[in-house]
This record gives sequence, C-alpha cells and structure tokens, in this order.
Amino acid sequence: MKIVGLVGWRGIVGSVLLQRMQEENDLLNITPVFFSTSQFGQYGPVINNISYDILKNAYDINSLKNMDIIITCQGSEYTNQVYPKLRQKNWKGYWIDASSALRMENDSIIILDPVNYDMIISSIKKGIKTFVGGNCTVSLMLMALGGLFKQKLIKWITVSTYQAASGAGARHIIELLNQMGALYSTVQKDLLNNLTAILDIEKKVTNMSRSSNFPTDYFSVPLAGSVIPWIDKKINTGQSREEWKAHAEAQKILGYNNFTIESLCIRIGAIRCHSQTFFIKLTQELSLRNIEDIIKQHNQWVNVVPNNISDTLLKLTPAAVTNTLNIPIGRLRLLNIGKKYLSAFTVGDQLLWGAAEPLRRMLNLLINY
Ligand code: NAP
Repeated sequence: MKIVGLVGWRGIVGSVLLQRMQEENDLLNITPVFFSTSQFGQYGPVINNISYDILKNAYDINSLKNMDIIITCQGSEYTNQVYPKLRQKNWKGYWIDASSALRMENDSIIILDPVNYDMIISSIKKGIKTFVGGNCTVSLMLMALGGLFKQKLIKWITVSTYQAASGAGARHIIELLNQMGALYSTVQKDLLNNLTAILDIEKKVTNMSRSSNFPTDYFSVPLAGSVIPWIDKKINTGQSREEWKAHAEAQKILGYNNFTIESLCIRIGAIRCHSQTFFIKLTQELSLRNIEDIIKQHNQWVNVVPNNISDTLLKLTPAAVTNTLNIPIGRLRLLNIGKKYLSAFTVGDQLLWGAAEPLRRMLNLLINY
C-alpha cells in the first residue's frame, strides 16, 4: 500500500478531506501518516476506532521523504517553504496540494477530474508529479458550466461571487460567529421586550459593528451585517488575485483560451458554500431548453433548478447546498440585451468540489493507476 502523508488535516479543508476519506473508505487503501506544523509529538487522530501514530513534524524533510504521496491542505506558505526542499533532496513522490502556490507552474496540473480527466491521465503518463486543486470559485464555476465550456459555447463571462467566511479558513468562521453574537447581544433585551423602535435597534447594532470591541482580527472589518468587496491581494491590473484566478486557472484547467472571464469577488456572511452570478455571452444562439440539456449532461453532480421562486428558494442557496456534492444552477434566462446572452446563478460547497473532493479523487487515481 502507498504511504500517504497528510498535512493540514486539522484545518477546515483538511477536516472535510478526512471526513470524505472516511465516508469513502479511502483510508483502508493507503497507509496514512499524519503530520502537523504545530502539534507534532502529540497523539494522532482516532478514526473509526483506529488510533494513528504520534504526529510527525510537517517541516521534517527526512520524514516527508519517506512518503509515496503527500497531500497538503496547510496553505501556500507551507508549500513554498517545504516543497522546493523536498524536490531538491530528489524526492520523486506525488504532491497533491489545496493551496495556490504551485498552480500556475509549468510542471503542475490543476485537478478537477469531471472537467479535465484526460489531461490528468495523460500527465500522469508523462511523469508529472505535482497536482494542485483549483481555486474554489473556479472549480465550482467549471462544474456548473462544464457542458457549455466543453462544447466551446462560451465567448465571455462576467462573474460576481458571494463567498462564504469558511473560504478564508477555520479562524474566520469563528470570527464571523463572534461578530454575529456581538451584534445580537447588544440588542438582545430590546428584541425580547419588543418595545424598542426599529431605528434605535439598528443604531445600536451599527454602533457595535463600528466599535473597537467588535472582533475583527482576521477579516479586519465587519462581515456580519456587511459585505467585503475584496478577497486576497491587489495585483497591478486593479483586480484582486482571486479575481485574476478566474480567467487564468480556467484556461489552464480547460487547456484552451478562446474565451474571457472577468470577475468581481465578494465575501459575504455565509458560513459555507460559495455562490456566483454569471452573465454569459454565448458563441451562438441556442434555445434555453438546449442550454439546460447541455449543462445537465456534463456531469452527475450538476442539476438545473427551474427558474421559479419556490425551486430557487428551496434548492439554490448555501443553506440548501452545504455539505452536499450537488452543484445546482438556476436563474437561467436568455437576456433582453440579445439572443446570445444568458444569466445564471450557481451555489456549490467550496470545501467539497471547491477544495477537498478533487484532492481525494486525485489520490484514488494515483493509487489505482
Ligand atoms: P485553515 O482552516 O486556516 O487551516 C490551515 C491550518 O491552520 C491548519 O492545518 C492548522 O495547522 C492551522 N490552524 C490554526 N488554528 C486552527 C483552528 N482553530 N482550527 C483548525 N486549524 C487551525 O485553512 P483552510 O481554509 O483549510 O485552507 C488550507 C489551504 O486550502 C489554503 O491554501 C487555502 O487557500 C486552500 N483552499 C481553501 C479553501 C476554503 O474554502 N477554505 C478552498 C480551496 C482552497 P496545524 O494543525 O499545523 O496547526
């Protein structure tokens, strides 16, 4: 059995990865070795009544060198620090990574097998050893619109994202909940006695969100009761790095480039699941029925939600999609501005198809190869 090193399994992506590996019995097909950057020397996890060995130091290159495969959900800083050292030591194993550090390298493949299975298999045959999960919104967009991309029906897309707090990591979820709690606590009595005027309630809540006591260590500004229209660093095009990824990574995953994607990425106070609005220019006129069929047939997880109020509210929200592999896409409509223009809205669990699921499926492809 392959010896597989797991790094970053305590974080939010790593926890979901482990949960999925348990559900699919993946751990029975490998010899897992657990690493940590902060807790090495402590007991390993207990999974299905099996106690795993003491945690190894995730910076110890000699321990990592013994792995056939390493899966890391630790983040870019870790990858930048450890990966070059391992390769310099002539390590020939497979590196599977959730972080963006190596995504755009020439000798890495961005993995999303329902979309680029053939590319992944041919790269394994060519001897590629580095496989990286895509940006979460990019992977979720390609899962939703894969059929239209496959038939080269997309000329351009403008995307607005609505990204959950968990997209920024475990500590950010906790901060969002603390912010929600602080807002609620400040008006709890007023809400119970039902006597306070609504503008007085709003004023107290706004004052709390602007006070120095409000917890903003990680987001740096309020997210609860607000939105943050910037994710990741600024690059010199005026885009955020998250926005730049939409076009760059989609091209790399699909392996062709005669389309354009423009994106504006926004953090909202959802806990888990990213949502996205698309305005799409198609390369040719198609009926809505035809478009829906092409979308549905692409993969088994995407499903078209009828464009009506009850289906939209029931099936097309983070509350409905969280912790499922479903990729609903709805609000599909040909626009008044021209016959080749389409709107759509999709929701996907960014911790599953947007992060952990492509990694565990890549592990299985390598094990069964
Ligand atoms: P995270 O939750 O912040 O976890 C990263 C590491 O932080 C953990 O492995 C853990 O390392 C440490 N940590 C510190 N305090 C923690 C706490 N209270 N609970 C859990 N872990 C804690 O980061 P992440 O969101 O999983 O992201 C990991 C990588 O995946 C990043 O490169 C990210 O860009 C990428 N990614 C994330 C998402 C997403 O939706 N979150 C989606 C796609 C890709 P030690 O155990 O070593 O201390």
